[in-house]
Amino acid sequence: MARTVDLLSDDDIALLKESSLLVGRTLAEVARHIAPGVTTGELDRMAEEFIRDNGAIPGFKGLYGCPSTLLISVNDQVVHGLPGDRTLRDGDVASVDCGVLMNGFYGDSAYTFMVGEVAGPVKQLLRVTQECLQLGIEQAVENNRTGDIGHAIQQHAEKNGYGVVRELVGHGVGRKLHEPPEVPNYGRRGQGAKLRNGMVLAIEPMINMGTKEVKQLGDGWTIVTRDGKPSAHFEHNIAVRAGRSEVLSTFSYIEDVLKAKGELVN
Ligand code: MG
Ligand code: MG
Repeated sequence: MARTVDLLSDDDIALLKESSLLVGRTLAEVARHIAPGVTTGELDRMAEEFIRDNGAIPGFKGLYGCPSTLLISVNDQVVHGLPGDRTLRDGDVASVDCGVLMNGFYGDSAYTFMVGEVAGPVKQLLRVTQECLQLGIEQAVENNRTGDIGHAIQQHAEKNGYGVVRELVGHGVGRKLHEPPEVPNYGRRGQGAKLRNGMVLAIEPMINMGTKEVKQLGDGWTIVTRDGKPSAHFEHNIAVRAGRSEVLSTFSYIEDVLKAKGELVN
């Protein structure tokens, strides 16, 4: 049964934005500590402590049985990697996805970090995936459709020779982490759910360097590319408005940290 789309009031959106910004600050904590030699489990514990210290609760932990605060997906892992004993190594890329619940609203944002010195083609994948996110966001305006977002993302990714994951998609976000509508990263202009003022969406391109095909590992969570090539993932929360979209989450806290570390290339 299709659930109806929950349109949020400006007051609701202001609360959701607080949650989204806390995710950005949590990811900045990850940025501060991510380096060769650090385990994904250490980053997860740090993030949980930071979120709770800020009066919120981790948004993923316990949801659908998720055991962790962060989902950390390294190299050929696309999304839903579970933090643990894995030690990050020089040259890795790690998508870190984080959700929080505060004041009744979820924030949900993801950033793909470079660990140490990353190969040029992988840097390029990260750059293009961020561009895909930006192009998708620009389409998230009232009276457009979800297909306009997906089309913009798909076009830019495929123009660069990359694969667009089909099995996992963006979504509405609000009082629940996953609300309708689905927001695929592929699609046709003018198709899909109509966008209305007050809808809040999580737009999250998952772009593979090689094939678009993915599979799930035996842990029942981790999604990896079928060809073993790297994948990138960036996610923002946006409110649909007339003639524009309002980005509620931010990477600016992350970028401030990365600049100070001399690690921002984009
Ligand atoms: Mg997410
Ligand atoms: Mg999401």
